[in-house]
Amino acid sequence: MTQPKRYLITSALPYANGLKHVGHLAGAYIPADIYVRYLRAQKRDVVFVCGSDEHGTAIPIQAAKEGTTPRAIIDKYHEVMKQDFDDLSMSFDIYHRTSEPIHHETAQEFFTYLNDRGELEVKESEQFYDEEAKSFLADRYIKGTCPNCGSDRAFGDQCENCGRTLSPDELINPVSTLSGSKPVKKKTSHWYLPLGKHEEFLREWILREHKDDWRASVVGQCRSWIEGGLQSRAISRDLEWGIRVPHPDGVGKVLYVWFDAPIGYISATKQWSIDNNKDWKPYWYDADTKLVHFVGKDNIVFHAIIFPIMLKLHGNILPANVPANEFLNLEGDKMSTSRNWKLDMRDYINDFVKKENGGLQCVDMLRYYLTQIAPETKDSEFMWKGFQDAVNSELVSIFGNFINRTWVLMHKLCGGKVPKLHEELLDETDKDLIAEIGKAKNKIENLLEEFKFREALFEVIDLSRKGNQYMQKKEPWIVAKQLADNPEVQKSIDNTMHLCLQLSANLAILINPFLPNTAKKMIYMMKVVEKMLDWENAGKIKLLSVGYALRAPELLFRKIEDDEIKYQVEKLKAGLIKMEEPKMEETKSAIVNLKPEIQFDDFSKIDLKVGTIVTAEKVEKADKLLKLSIDLGFETRTIVSGIALHFKPEDIIGKQVVVVANLAPRKMRGIESNGMILMAEDKEGKLHFVNPDGITNNGAPVN
Ligand SMILES: [Zn+2]
Repeated sequence: MTQPKRYLITSALPYANGLKHVGHLAGAYIPADIYVRYLRAQKRDVVFVCGSDEHGTAIPIQAAKEGTTPRAIIDKYHEVMKQDFDDLSMSFDIYHRTSEPIHHETAQEFFTYLNDRGELEVKESEQFYDEEAKSFLADRYIKGTCPNCGSDRAFGDQCENCGRTLSPDELINPVSTLSGSKPVKKKTSHWYLPLGKHEEFLREWILREHKDDWRASVVGQCRSWIEGGLQSRAISRDLEWGIRVPHPDGVGKVLYVWFDAPIGYISATKQWSIDNNKDWKPYWYDADTKLVHFVGKDNIVFHAIIFPIMLKLHGNILPANVPANEFLNLEGDKMSTSRNWKLDMRDYINDFVKKENGGLQCVDMLRYYLTQIAPETKDSEFMWKGFQDAVNSELVSIFGNFINRTWVLMHKLCGGKVPKLHEELLDETDKDLIAEIGKAKNKIENLLEEFKFREALFEVIDLSRKGNQYMQKKEPWIVAKQLADNPEVQKSIDNTMHLCLQLSANLAILINPFLPNTAKKMIYMMKVVEKMLDWENAGKIKLLSVGYALRAPELLFRKIEDDEIKYQVEKLKAGLIKMEEPKMEETKSAIVNLKPEIQFDDFSKIDLKVGTIVTAEKVEKADKLLKLSIDLGFETRTIVSGIALHFKPEDIIGKQVVVVANLAPRKMRGIESNGMILMAEDKEGKLHFVNPDGITNNGAPVN
């Protein structure tokens, strides 16, 4: 494979409406930073961009909540997030903002370019409107009762209580949060990006070209979007806050935040080029640039489907990869801002990094643990006990221990200077170690190139483990005691310590992308320049010159004490906001009302199919949910259904059901649910399956 000429690496733009937690950090930021630091050590041409996403409806809502202006909100959270990333050693080349004029211009130019070439559609639709406030209502501005759990904390896009994704039409008794009045439907027109027109391109590009080099979960999610039928997506909104639609018919409209946000990567690159007197264009136009988007799995559709279509239409390069991570849970439960079940980056910084016994070593300790548990292939779990174990029994006991022993013994047995290597005296154990050092570089390099950061980090730690084993075999401290005056013995000690020091230098290079502050400290102890960390030096055993005096050892990591862990777990539990119990009574009276009349065309959009439940299991920590797999004849689907209080899993296997087969996928408790099964509810609130009268073949349509 030819090496790209340059790299453009992006991390998802965090939304400027609140603090970000370590789940975000593990998903889109630390992996990108590792990759970028590795590329820089390889002396590749790389630009790493990120910034605050400052548009969208949640910003003015947050402003209203805090009694201030949208501008004040974004200024506040932009600064906070920038500081958090700085404090955790993220090495963006630029951390930009989408409220900057250069971004508005870039996004407007993008829109105009697409619109002028007829790539957009204008469609009229009915949207919710507040007649008192004289304003169209974004989904978030509509509040009502959740049809799923009965909570009154449901919004037009999502229920805050049960987490279900909603559309405003599903809300029971919807009201406008602007005026409290009942919203009405009103006609409006918007620009749409017709995704369906690009289906063949996506099939070819993702499902064929990238089926092997992209993560299976990313390809899988793209496949289900494509197979589910790609609808045209509105790219404008009736809103005040945002980027004006640059069109005579665009009065009172702004670009939808999901149209403008990814363009933020381009405007950030432009600003970087101005600041550094470079040309930004090759990074977005030249085919020999490798573009990689680091995102969480909730962002896959935007970075692997929608933005690439925009880029293609605009004449830009496409991402070479979108290594999306799954979600990080916390102490056995999903991280949630509304329930306050989370660990904010800021909290970790205050409790560890800024403490007397904290500092940059604590930054690296968090970076270590988050990489060690990175949710690369499935959701993973942040446990405080796990953090303590990772730090104490790996960083301290293996890596830190090896470096510390090497330095202490080198000062004690070799006068603090790099001893000579007597090649004629090298034995098998020495040669094995030299071979391991040589092998590690390629192994780690290949894993990093494939975005397998967990495994790559494991290999680095494993190399330090081999160092400990080597030292244990050689026991230079015992050898020294036994035959102190024999020059041959001193030669053997010199060989051992020489190799341990060269291994330490290698470990500094290899750990640098992951734990940059640790590498820096090691550089200091070795009294060498930072250039030694160049990746090409890894694998060599002549990095430190014979006779060179090294500094005294410093501890690389401190232990995490039991009471620190206990304090964190208690703090987390004390802060949890308990959610209300479902209000079944209210829900029941509400559902007596018929929903508004629909046309046959509306109904015919729903694709109902007969299927059979083949497996059923409880969803952990969700009393109401069962995870089902359903045989639809043509495929087997995973569907999460809220029926666990009514049926035992083992009782429903083999049952035929009717499935809404073309419902967009939806995450519930981290599981992607692909469809919905129809249930009838009797007056006691008990659920019954809706199924064909008599056995029908799976996949049979219900018309
Ligand atoms: Zn709900």
